Amino acid sequence: MCEEQERLQRLYKLQIARDYRDRVTKTTKFSKPLLIGSGLLVAIMGMGLLGLFILLQGAATGYAMLTRDLPSLSEISNHASFKTAQIFDRNGTLLWEFYDPDGRRYGLPTYPYRLAPDGLLTIRQLRAKGLRPGGQDIAAQILWRHRKHRRVAYLYRIQDAKPKRQATAAQLAAIGKALAARRTCPSCGIEKPYCIPRSRGECNDCHDQQQA
Ligand SMILES: [Zn+2]
Repeated sequence: MCEEQERLQRLYKLQIARDYRDRVTKTTKFSKPLLIGSGLLVAIMGMGLLGLFILLQGAATGYAMLTRDLPSLSEISNHASFKTAQIFDRNGTLLWEFYDPDGRRYGLPTYPYRLAPDGLLTIRQLRAKGLRPGGQDIAAQILWRHRKHRRVAYLYRIQDAKPKRQATAAQLAAIGKALAARRTCPSCGIEKPYCIPRSRGECNDCHDQQQA
């Protein structure tokens, strides 16, 4: 009886020990990967935060570098900072050399060829519309380069232009007289259908007679 109890006691202790061992090995079996896993998770989160920080820092630096040379918005809105800018096309031709709408560089409001605003026309363009400047001052100019020479065309406001004057009868008569005089040969006194060449000073007939 006593011996039996002792045996059972030993078995029981053995059982407990086995259970304990099983429990310990089980928990370590589970907890080890869990520990490694959580460690990894922390590491990844740390790396992520660090990465985010570096990214933000980089973005801030990049933005600062990009905006460092840009004019401020107020400068753009009164666009005074573009006055002296020289813009070249791909062939190295200066495009905006003659862009000076306030006339600070050239005295007159100046535009490059083909870039004058509407309402400003040359005398030729006014004439084509049956208009003349009508005593107004030159409003602006177009500047361009032709074979290294600077060319200018003056512009007038179409709103200040006046209708082209019709020549009076007297003016037409005067023009007719002047033309008749230029057509009349000083040698033979005959009015020719052509103007007498100044180099000869007489009509072709008189000239031919002299040659013969
Ligand atoms: Zn003649």
